[in-house]
Amino acid sequence: MGRWVGARSSRSGRAREDTAGGAAETIVLGDDEVLLPGLVDTHVHVNEPGRTDWEGFASATRAAAAGGITTIIDMPLNSIPPTTDAGALRAKRESAAGQIQVDVGFWGGAVPGSTGRLRELHEEGAFGFKVFLADSGVPEFPPLDPPGLESVMAEAAALGSLVIVHAEDAAVLGAAPRSAGRGYGSFLRSRPAAAEVTAIARVIELARRTGARAHVLHLSAADAIGLVAAARRDGARVTAETCPHYLALAAEDIPDGATQFKCCPPIRERANREQLWQALRDGIIDCVVSDHSPCPAALKRLDAGDFGAAWGGISSVQLALPVVWTQARPRGHSLQDIARWMAAGPADLAGLAGKGRIAPGCDADLVAFAPEDSFTVAPEGLHHRHRLTPYAGQRLHGVVRRTWLRGAPVPGARPAGRLLARGAAG
Ligand SMILES: [Zn+2]
Repeated sequence: MGRWVGARSSRSGRAREDTAGGAAETIVLGDDEVLLPGLVDTHVHVNEPGRTDWEGFASATRAAAAGGITTIIDMPLNSIPPTTDAGALRAKRESAAGQIQVDVGFWGGAVPGSTGRLRELHEEGAFGFKVFLADSGVPEFPPLDPPGLESVMAEAAALGSLVIVHAEDAAVLGAAPRSAGRGYGSFLRSRPAAAEVTAIARVIELARRTGARAHVLHLSAADAIGLVAAARRDGARVTAETCPHYLALAAEDIPDGATQFKCCPPIRERANREQLWQALRDGIIDCVVSDHSPCPAALKRLDAGDFGAAWGGISSVQLALPVVWTQARPRGHSLQDIARWMAAGPADLAGLAGKGRIAPGCDADLVAFAPEDSFTVAPEGLHHRHRLTPYAGQRLHGVVRRTWLRGAPVPGARPAGRLLARGAAG
């Protein structure tokens, strides 16, 4: 006996009534609502335990549910300890248990000297290993040098796991001018596209040499798209994601001192943004995920507006769907595209067989979405622990009316999320 969610009228106007024998309850969507699969966001920084004042499992998963996201995979850094061994992964699970509104899985992390701990992380259920090739922003998660990256990729290949890469090259960043003061242009010059291109070229070369699966996180630099496309044509096991802010925002529009727009890699120019849309259209970028990376407002240094000093990260797990839909719609994309980029694509990346699709055998993770409705972003309506957002005041298209996790409405009074582990999920 379960809950059945049906659509009485499709968008084409063709009358349709779906029923399921034996369901305890029938829910009929409104005429302006469509049913989407619950979204899967494989790039969320929850920060608990250790930096729970930045973001925690209760607030992050409530925001996700309100935004139509029913599964998140948590990043291994910004929590303390970082998720770089099996004990740290167990600590994450213990922190999350009993307070999650959506299903939660965990990426492991690889730092210098930790290759020997990847197997235990893998066996404990980590979905793959995140690495940095430049400063991560927190001292307890240092970057890998090129030999370190090769050793991690070789071990991941042996385990049949996946390496997910923050692809900015330390040497290129080190040679760039430093970000100084309030000017966004100065910050942008400090994180040139060449840093991404160099790092991604190295990852592709090592994916070929070691046979490892590699995934490029938060691709921002359009200059690297051709490299990814060529590698895939040649059979390298390389995938890529981008994020709502790279698809929606543009450097030319960012006011000086507006550090709520700071993230790494940075939001680039309008022309670059259009090339990212083309790469999505061409299927070179597989996923759109939030990179929800919050911090207390004080760390954004809005008083001084200094881009060099501010924490780099944008909180957007609750807004990812309407932000992307608002941009996708006028570019001629459909909700099927959204479902592929934000549900099936990330589910496939993480190997979540029962997630990201409305299909027999999959979890009944569902979203009632009103694509033609709109709203103005009011920070007080966000469930993120910290509500500073670059989208404040923006008019967005697409309203998440209701979200269900395994057929039950979320967020709910009793947190119904489950902990997911690689291989056992879905
Ligand atoms: Zn991130």
